[in-house]
Amino acid sequence: MVIDVNEIPREGLHIDQDFDFISLDLVEEDAVFLQPTHAEVEVKKVGSDVQVRGRINTRLSFVCSRCLRPFEYCVDSMFDLVYLPEELDEMKEELGEEDLDRFFYYHQQLNLRDVILEQLNLSFPLRPLCSEDCEGICPVCGELINQGQCSCQVHDSDPRLEKLKSFMRDKK
Ligand SMILES: [Zn+2]
Ligand SMILES: [Zn+2]
Repeated sequence: MVIDVNEIPREGLHIDQDFDFISLDLVEEDAVFLQPTHAEVEVKKVGSDVQVRGRINTRLSFVCSRCLRPFEYCVDSMFDLVYLPEELDEMKEELGEEDLDRFFYYHQQLNLRDVILEQLNLSFPLRPLCSEDCEGICPVCGELINQGQCSCQVHDSDPRLEKLKSFMRDKK
């Protein structure tokens, strides 16, 4: 959905709707949507700046980067952005430090769908994990280490033991 910046009313726009994206839109490979992305967004014009504040919710299936099993990942992310008119994009070098993470709108239009998609991609973890203490797959037998199906003695250190050790250290 494209917003015409000149037509944003004084009181701003309130958008509350579902967006259907596809996996190919995502930076995360192997991610699959389990439901549409719900977005609640306030769009306000302040001078020539466009303020975009909102919240996105969705549920996806990610693949754990350690054990390679799919798991459910919930997104509940807030954002508060300022879009500046394109003219300022050309003078970027002159903008101060605090303007570096600002965005730009072009031809007096703001594509809200793109904004939501960008924020969704930014909300993803760098390396998705099914759980913080997922120990992944044993390089020898290929079994999941957490489930105790692996009895190989080759793990140079047992992460659980390491955890216990550092716990004991911290106690001292
Ligand atoms: Zn995992
Ligand atoms: Zn093993």
